[in-house]
Amino acid sequence: MPSPPTAESSGRPSTALPPLRETIAKHGLGARKALGQHFLLDLNLTRRIARAAAPLSQGTVIEIGPGPGGLTRGLLDEGARKVIAIEKDRRCLDALQEVADAYPGRLELIAGDALEIDLSQLGEAPRQIVANLPYNVSTALLIQWLTLLDKDAGALTRLTLMFQKEVAERLAAIPRAKEYGRLSILAQWLCEIDLVFDVPKQAFTPPPKVISTIVSLTPRTVPLAPAQMPSLERITAAAFGQRRKMLRQSLKSASQDVTGLLAQCGIEGTKRAEELSVENFCALARALDHGSLKV
Ligand code: SAM
Repeated sequence: MPSPPTAESSGRPSTALPPLRETIAKHGLGARKALGQHFLLDLNLTRRIARAAAPLSQGTVIEIGPGPGGLTRGLLDEGARKVIAIEKDRRCLDALQEVADAYPGRLELIAGDALEIDLSQLGEAPRQIVANLPYNVSTALLIQWLTLLDKDAGALTRLTLMFQKEVAERLAAIPRAKEYGRLSILAQWLCEIDLVFDVPKQAFTPPPKVISTIVSLTPRTVPLAPAQMPSLERITAAAFGQRRKMLRQSLKSASQDVTGLLAQCGIEGTKRAEELSVENFCALARALDHGSLKV
């Protein structure tokens, strides 16, 4: 006799699990601000986020901060073959173990700080990250994953991440936009960025102060232009650290010979940081590395 369809094969949610509100009450998972906890309890929404990361059926989905497991359930219901979830708050582990038991062999839990874990070693390739990120460390985590991609463009196939809308707009911003800055350049240098959809404050328990946005980052096979990431970080930090100043002034903190540096790249010293393209910043980073111009 054929075996009955599983939640995985049918695309149906597991009926073995209680609603998330019950899970939170049962395990006493009151949200903690210090851990950036804003939980998603609507399983239709978490499945929609999971679908934005499809296909999920190959390799490993790494989830950061599963909390009580709403997005984790969404990923598993949408057919993720293997989810490895990293959670810093040990209070969540029993609730997450119930999810693991409802989807046998498909969810592995790691109790720890995602900032301290090398994702390139987890599970089988291809690896992708899906997360409703804790806002207090979202930028630090993203920079860490961009550093990983700089070393190995194939380390991650995609990142589907929830950020505060303001951060999402910075990631996708183009030159001359007020949101354009360091994060735009580092992210766009290594990834294609798509803003997928907004999530209103009321979708979270407790609601955050601002709207959130799901962002899809697809790593480029080669960066937009050659550059060393530390030099690119240095030149963008200098340029945007004083974004209203002209480059001939703002770049003084990165180079002793700003005039030579700009001339090498054919960039006028009267321009401001927001007017330069990602490729312009890469040229400046290369010039920093090649000249004896470093401080
Ligand atoms: N994924 C859940 C959801 O969508 O309902 C929870 C998202 S909540 C915005 C962020 C989660 O990240 C929390 O569960 C929090 O405990 C966890 N977290 C915070 N800092 C972390 C870190 N450094 N490493 C791993 N998890 C972290």
